Amino acid sequence: MAGSDTIAPPVGVLALQGDFREHLRVLTMLGARAVSVRRPEELDDVSGLVIPGGESSVMDKLSRSFGMAEPVRAAIDEGLPVYGTCAGLIMLADRIVDGIPGQRSFGGIDIAVRRNAFGPQTASFEVDLDVPVLGDPPLHAVFIRAPVVDSLGREATPLSALDDGRVVAVEQGNLIGTSFHPEMTNDYRFHRYFLDRVRRVAFRG
Ligand code: GLN
Repeated sequence: MAGSDTIAPPVGVLALQGDFREHLRVLTMLGARAVSVRRPEELDDVSGLVIPGGESSVMDKLSRSFGMAEPVRAAIDEGLPVYGTCAGLIMLADRIVDGIPGQRSFGGIDIAVRRNAFGPQTASFEVDLDVPVLGDPPLHAVFIRAPVVDSLGREATPLSALDDGRVVAVEQGNLIGTSFHPEMTNDYRFHRYFLDRVRRVAFRG
């Protein structure tokens, strides 16, 4: 029988909207069996889920009209590892600041996230971030109309912050969120960090 380290558990990318193709490409390059997830039954087959960047208010509406919002919430509650980037982080936040009226998230991470937190002048920028869980060197991070973590509840752990102290990467249990887009750089340590979590959860017990 093959050892657990030679088996790649299937990893889904929520493909309702946004840059899901880039995540599929990165995950595949890293040796994962990456598949698009659009329907509830596709969620049953994956051992982890990436929620891409895009537009969180649209993703929210589509997830509700595709009948995905409740299944994703249930999967999060059951401990499915999920990694959200940018709009994906917003979808994982328990609370949204500056959402459109009626905007909802899946929730799961005990944080308030502020949408479009960097005014129009700095809507997009790049910066090198220290991320202690990833070690050296600093991670080159791309921010595009990005959210920040406005307040952090007791359950959530910050993984990285800007020089001014604003938190831009967090985790809680099997949930990981970043304000920025590692899939748009050549540094995939956050995807590897997530895939390690997926394997650990998939092969435990
Ligand atoms: N501003 C977008 C939102 O509110 C997020 C942008 C992104 O994902 N690059 O969802």
